[in-house]
Amino acid sequence: MRSQYCGALNASFIDQEVTLCGWVDRRRDHGGVIFIDLRDREGIVQVVFDPDAKENFALADKVRGEYVLQLTGKVRARAPSTVNPNMATGEIEVYGTALTILNEAETMPFPLDSYSNVGEETRLKYRFLDLRRTEMQKNLRFRSKVTSVIRNYLDRNGFLDVETPILTRATPEGARDYLVPSRTHDGKFFALPQSPQLFKQLLMVAGYDRYYQIAKCFRDEDLRADRQPEFTQIDIETSFMSQEQIMNITEGMFRELFKDLMGVDFAEIKHMPFSEAIAKYGSDKPDMRIPLELVDVKDLVTEVDFKVFAGPANDPKSRVTALKVPGGNEKLTRKQIDDYTKFVGIYGAKGLAYIKVNDKSDLEEGLQSPIVKNLPVSVRKAILDRVGAENGDLIFFGADKHKVVTEALGALRCKLGADLELYTCQWAPLWVVDFPMFEDDDKGGWTSIHHPFTSPSCTPEELIANPGAALSRAYDLVLNGTELGGGSVRIHSSTMQQAVFQILGISPEEQREKFGFLLDALAYGAPPHGGLAFGLDRLIMLMVGASSIRDVIAFPKTQSAACVMTDAPGTVDDLQLRDLHIRLRKKEKAVVAEDAPEYGM
Ligand code: ASP
Repeated sequence: MRSQYCGALNASFIDQEVTLCGWVDRRRDHGGVIFIDLRDREGIVQVVFDPDAKENFALADKVRGEYVLQLTGKVRARAPSTVNPNMATGEIEVYGTALTILNEAETMPFPLDSYSNVGEETRLKYRFLDLRRTEMQKNLRFRSKVTSVIRNYLDRNGFLDVETPILTRATPEGARDYLVPSRTHDGKFFALPQSPQLFKQLLMVAGYDRYYQIAKCFRDEDLRADRQPEFTQIDIETSFMSQEQIMNITEGMFRELFKDLMGVDFAEIKHMPFSEAIAKYGSDKPDMRIPLELVDVKDLVTEVDFKVFAGPANDPKSRVTALKVPGGNEKLTRKQIDDYTKFVGIYGAKGLAYIKVNDKSDLEEGLQSPIVKNLPVSVRKAILDRVGAENGDLIFFGADKHKVVTEALGALRCKLGADLELYTCQWAPLWVVDFPMFEDDDKGGWTSIHHPFTSPSCTPEELIANPGAALSRAYDLVLNGTELGGGSVRIHSSTMQQAVFQILGISPEEQREKFGFLLDALAYGAPPHGGLAFGLDRLIMLMVGASSIRDVIAFPKTQSAACVMTDAPGTVDDLQLRDLHIRLRKKEKAVVAEDAPEYGM
């Protein structure tokens, strides 16, 4: 139906006749001449109809916004005064000679330009219109380029694209499962995969050596922040590679993406132990664009009379930490400090002590702070020396349980970075390594930090003797404070796998029932293997600078995990339910869904 895309036209087409198809972006009547901006996937071109075009002119007069047209005309140069440098096709226009209205359109429920502030619910309800917007088209085209670079890289490196099942059994990744009732097996359910984890490991056992899949994953979580119940992972697994090699080959893909699509060449990407990330940045995904660090001062305040500090300083499960803001004296107002005090309250901090360093040579009068009078001069000096304070600096303090201080000051560090525009670079990638295997589940048991198939760096005996001290062979790639992806070297011996299950409190019967196939596979010649998965949506969101993950997904769900366009999830009729052996409970009798399995993460 067409000879060219609208957006592909330029001066090289001058004097050629072209046929275009597309949507009316705008129609203007300039005293007897009608201008139609015709839009397609590639862009917009201006088409002119004058009264000489006779019946076509009459038709052009009838078209309205978003009508679908086919038109023919001759490309010509615009008069110099009407050249539009802001438009890719701004040097030319098409002089229209034939016009067919392929379809009409109702008035749009919202303007499709990028300037209008439209509620997200409306955008999602009419997603097929929202997706016409230039911004969304740009994002989805970029997404397609990303997957193409990824596929090329992985194909070139010998990875095989293998699909794994969607109807499957639970894969513990720490969320609830989406369940699908079975019609043919009365009372039984499939689970949608939280990730292809076990299947990709089985492919390694089967000898496929290098696997990848751009895989849909499903996690029924309360949609905190910016998450989606179904999302896409770049899922990778390899055999016979060391942790270092797995990290290198996947880092190569990440580097290629940024080089090819953003023109960004990363310098060496640092490997930082988890313990250092928590100690210095208060996060397992530190934003390395921000030049602020937490400095522990616990040992300096064990003897002081000030209980707020001395209490946590003498408690092994607590932390006393300083965060210096260079020049913070001037940069932060009293009101901002009050706001930050409220902000750290979100993380459970009961207050936010601070010292303003006016004159560090005068430890009696030169420090301004509500707490300084509680600290002996020698301690004041030791703190200033430890954090390397200069006149004009402001030092915040956190003193509480380890988790509270880490999270509160870690978040404050990021907030200060954003509020005071402290970023030192645009992109700061980082590998975080040496995660602990387990964390305390507060009920006397353990949960996996990664997932239960992650290999520890010790023997099964050492692991069982001291699970809390064991480190795992897991790694996360972090970019600007966002976890892009993570993975691990896997357990390839059934003895080790059983040891991990045992620590997680999974009985031998339950191990057999839920993971018998994995234990069998590990017993039949499983190679050493490992891999990782990148979150595709989040990666693209960062690359295009979108503010929400929903802006890089064609048909996302709302914050409450629904689709307002198709009205999913929907009700089903009684017959369908009967086929599935399901009878719905009356509302008031509904029970609260059980918590996610405790051994996942
Ligand atoms: N299955 C893991 C996840 O979904 C990634 C991996 O270990 O490869 O987070």
